[in-house]
Amino acid sequence: MSNFRSISIDIKGRTAWVGAGATVGEAYNSIYEANSNLGFPAAYCPTVGIGGHISGGGYGPLVRQFGLATDNVIDANGRVLDRKSMGEDLFWAIRGGDGASFAVILGYKLKLVEIPEKVTAFSINRTWEQNATQLLYKWQYIAPKLPLNLVITPQIVSINSNQTGKRTVQVTFVSVFRGKVDELLSIMNQQFPELGLKKEDCTEMLWIQYFAYAGGLPTSNIKEFLTSRVSSTKLYYNAKSDFVKEPIPEKEIEEILRKLNELPPFVGMLEWNHFGGGVMETIPESSLICFVS
Ligand SMILES: Cc1cc2nc3c(=O)[nH]c(=O)nc-3n(C[C@H](O)[C@H](O)[C@H](O)COP(=O)(O)OP(=O)(O)OC[C@H]3O[C@@H](n4cnc5c(N)ncnc54)[C@H](O)[C@@H]3O)c2cc1C
Repeated sequence: MSNFRSISIDIKGRTAWVGAGATVGEAYNSIYEANSNLGFPAAYCPTVGIGGHISGGGYGPLVRQFGLATDNVIDANGRVLDRKSMGEDLFWAIRGGDGASFAVILGYKLKLVEIPEKVTAFSINRTWEQNATQLLYKWQYIAPKLPLNLVITPQIVSINSNQTGKRTVQVTFVSVFRGKVDELLSIMNQQFPELGLKKEDCTEMLWIQYFAYAGGLPTSNIKEFLTSRVSSTKLYYNAKSDFVKEPIPEKEIEEILRKLNELPPFVGMLEWNHFGGGVMETIPESSLICFVS
């Protein structure tokens, strides 16, 4: 499929035909080069393939406002069928029914969404000793209420503390706000003052740079980062996703951190993504999604 990776953008119609063999990063880069105020709601990781990603759902930092990648597919293209000739049932199934179950997709027509060119991001660490349990507990309650242009994704790992040299658990709150720093600080002071976010923790950057920043990677040379079809980090892991519909009690979070703390540093990680309080609650088709990693 890797040869089916042409990308053509219709700026006026705010759509893009993207070959199924293109990566998400190649699509992000082409859309940005065509118009820096347009984007597509899909994965955090740019090396993910459009074909498998859209076949399985596809979530990323725009999910709360615009839904899954799948929810933003308008048409699909193949040797024999397009949306009209395949009919609405098959068109529904190929957007979330898991890759290769129903058809081989040659390309997708995507609906593009409006994005400010510049965003504000932060990534701050809080250890177990710095109230990580209580912060995670509170995050569950504020996350669905945050404005749709703000996502905060806690990443939880065990580390060896710089201060004590002893094993502890660290939560990194990684966030992107599609707005200015002062507005972000005002929201955070009202909704999540316990995190103690300061102006100096925040960085203004291009929207597309966030995909490198969120992975803890350099944001310079972003075009190369997005269009490289090979991951810059050689990190091999198994991942499993689940949905939590009720807040986890504080003592259970404490138990999760205790379990993670038993693992060697950076072996085992939890990433919490918030889907609630946005468009995901209004899209019934999205119940189809499954994440394959
Ligand atoms: C490092 C990493 C980061 C990730 N980050 C995210 C994320 O942020 N958000 C998210 O939602 N998911 C994420 N994922 C999961 C990712 O979306 C899935 O693993 C997806 O299936 C990858 O698709 P692929 O085409 O790259 O993989 P492949 O292994 O090539 O394909 C996966 C499946 O889709 C089928 N398939 C591929 N192309 C087509 C096609 N054209 N027509 C029909 N079937 C096809 C394949 O047969 C296979 O069954 C991540 C995965 C990795 C490895």
